[in-house]
Amino acid sequence: MEGVLLTTADYWEKATGDRVKCLLCPHECTIGLDKKGICGVRTNYKGVLYSLTYGLAVSGHADPIEKKPLYHFHPGTDVYSFGSLGCNLKCSFCQNWSISQKDVPAVDEMFISRYRREPKEAAQEVFDSGCAGVAWTYNEPTIWMEFARDTSKIVKSKGLYSVFVTNGFMNPRPLKDIAPYLDAMNVDVKSFSKGFYHDLCKAKLEPVKRTCELAVKLGIHLEITTLVITDTNDNMEEIKKLCEWVRDSLGPSTVMHFSRYHPDYKFTKPPTPPKTLHKAAKMAKKVGLDHVYIGNMYDEKFLHSYCQKCKKVVVERGPMHVRDNRLKKGKCPHCGSSVMKKY
Ligand code: SF4
Repeated sequence: MEGVLLTTADYWEKATGDRVKCLLCPHECTIGLDKKGICGVRTNYKGVLYSLTYGLAVSGHADPIEKKPLYHFHPGTDVYSFGSLGCNLKCSFCQNWSISQKDVPAVDEMFISRYRREPKEAAQEVFDSGCAGVAWTYNEPTIWMEFARDTSKIVKSKGLYSVFVTNGFMNPRPLKDIAPYLDAMNVDVKSFSKGFYHDLCKAKLEPVKRTCELAVKLGIHLEITTLVITDTNDNMEEIKKLCEWVRDSLGPSTVMHFSRYHPDYKFTKPPTPPKTLHKAAKMAKKVGLDHVYIGNMYDEKFLHSYCQKCKKVVVERGPMHVRDNRLKKGKCPHCGSSVMKKY
């Protein structure tokens, strides 16, 4: 462990012998001495679970909130975005694999000292940036939950917002703990097939659904993103089932993003044809979802926000930015319907 700074983790218990059981995410890894969990960033050192990435932000910069993507949450604002290393999923099509699948022990001491921040330092960076809030993004924020929670608490105390861009594969307790300091989440629901999660992500669908449902109960603004992959999760019956679950379990006003896949990491299937994204969006509208967007490709029609009642454009966007926000305190300027609660 020489050269690597250690912070004691939360969310774990002693297991048999010197082993520990991590309770942060549904893998609930039982970890032997000097071994790490599936995420690669939580380790058993002398019978105690430590977070190897507490404070280890490898990126920190301002982004438009639309880039997360969050389209119905403070549109047009900039958010200071922190990312770290590792992931608790092993998606073979990962679009951020260079950080998410990084082997943390390979990180040398110089690297650690260059990137490590205390929560108050990270929060100060957010304040100094002039951004409206902080985003935990790029790699999976669940696996550095303690640092995200501690920093978000400071950020929130000054009236700024905090958001997660997450795969949703987390246990309920950590989510409940961060909820007072978390305003919004974009959850990647990667597919509505258990086999897809098992075979391609080495994970399970049910905990992801549970996270989304709990987020709604906790009053966290929620948007869903599905990366639609050629010949993999682009079956319209499956997309229909996904959208029906969103409508029935999360509510028809839940924002749905379909994102276009490009070949990355271990996946070589060709990019998703735009017409497949259009079919998915059409299905979502047919099922009864009010707000459907398409990302990772340019189609203005699916960038703008529309009033769900009078169908007029209420937020006009270009790629990753707002051109004209016509909402009046979140309400449609034409018919007065409430379109966004967090404006
Ligand atoms: S957070 Fe990491 S160590 Fe903990 S259960 Fe999940 S994969 Fe395992």
